[in-house]
Amino acid sequence: MGKVLIIGAGGVGTVVAHKMAALPEVFTEIMLASRTKSKCDAIARKIGGNRIKTAQVDADNVPQLVALIRSFKPDLVVNVALPYQDLTIMDACLETETSYLDTANYEPKDEAKFEYKWQWAYQERFKNAGITAILGCGFDPGVTSVFTAHAAKHHFDEIHYLDIVDCNAGDHGKAFATNFNPEINIREVTQKGKYWENGKWVETEPHEIHKPLNYPEIGPKESYLIYHEELESLVRNFPTLKRARFWMTFGQEYLTHLRVIQNIGMAGIEPVMYEGREIVPIQFLKAVLPNPGDLGENYKGWTSIGCRIKGLKDGKEKTYYVYNNCSHEAAYAETGTQAVSYTTGVPAMIGAMMYLKGLWKKPGVFNVEEFNPDPFMEALNQHGLPWHELQGVDLEFEY
Ligand code: NDP
Repeated sequence: MGKVLIIGAGGVGTVVAHKMAALPEVFTEIMLASRTKSKCDAIARKIGGNRIKTAQVDADNVPQLVALIRSFKPDLVVNVALPYQDLTIMDACLETETSYLDTANYEPKDEAKFEYKWQWAYQERFKNAGITAILGCGFDPGVTSVFTAHAAKHHFDEIHYLDIVDCNAGDHGKAFATNFNPEINIREVTQKGKYWENGKWVETEPHEIHKPLNYPEIGPKESYLIYHEELESLVRNFPTLKRARFWMTFGQEYLTHLRVIQNIGMAGIEPVMYEGREIVPIQFLKAVLPNPGDLGENYKGWTSIGCRIKGLKDGKEKTYYVYNNCSHEAAYAETGTQAVSYTTGVPAMIGAMMYLKGLWKKPGVFNVEEFNPDPFMEALNQHGLPWHELQGVDLEFEY
């Protein structure tokens, strides 16, 4: 059906490559390219069957990307490198008239601030070139956005309150590790909190608002209100929302380590001089922390991520919860990575499949909730991320 170029051979790239390789009728040719080719080769070897071609590319370099895209001629580029590379990869896609998909919105390296404005600014150029950009197609953003679209389409006339709840109840046995790229993860969770209420953003101190929330088959876990990128597009695409918040669970041990890391300056993104050369503290920290891709082997337990929604159906108030629970052990057995990489990589593969099948294909730049949620929801059940619904259940949320 089509050719894909995956950029980024990290934990998420590993899952995307595994899942695509297993569907030869959809993904007829696959190339995995990253800064370090040996990482691509190791993934390709593990998958076997000569399914994956590999290449070296510096995704910060547009001419290099253009040359690679021109030589391989993919139908779609799947960007699972880092958010810093979003714009250069989009530029290369424009120059070669190739469609684009990613899982995280652009963030400038020198400022810990992620926003869609930079990528939304490509709307006219993608439209005029007749190519599609699918933004935020991981789990959150991604599945949570599609869950919201599914709820709005099938369960509500108007959605009013949205709480996205992200629980990692797994244990990797390390004192401190991040579940995806440490630099991106620490920048995200140390930001100020922010949520949408009555038409405006309300800002909080980092981790100021928290409470235990109940997660199905897991139980109560302390959950912290943080700002997360899908809130920005969801409040734009679902203007009936009166409030939209995002909650994430953190253990005490994790938060203590995070506080120390911040207090001693190791989360800094400004370069400092060390023995005559500049280093960025958070990048050095990444080099000494466990590699998220290697956490899988001893990871036990589950992730549980979903959307709790309240709104109106046929003039009556209704509550609805849709979620997926994913086992770290099962994810590892299938792909050699833990559930956080798995829950991101599977939706990226499904989004790519939606594009190649022509189901999510229109000229311009779109967040995933702007496409038909139905075939994506069906594919989640078929490809390892089954979802469940609870209706009219009190999940201990005050509204
Ligand atoms: P990793 O750090 O494990 O992998 C990133 C990969 O990108 C590495 O292999 C790295 O190559 C490669 N890379 C980085 N810079 C460049 C560059 N300039 N040129 C080419 N390759 C480059 O990260 P993850 O796999 O954990 O995460 C991947 C993406 O997924 C991130 O953008 C992250 O924000 C996003 N994500 C999204 C989630 C969601 O639910 N939506 C959840 C989790 C992650 P090398 O190893 O050679 O340095």
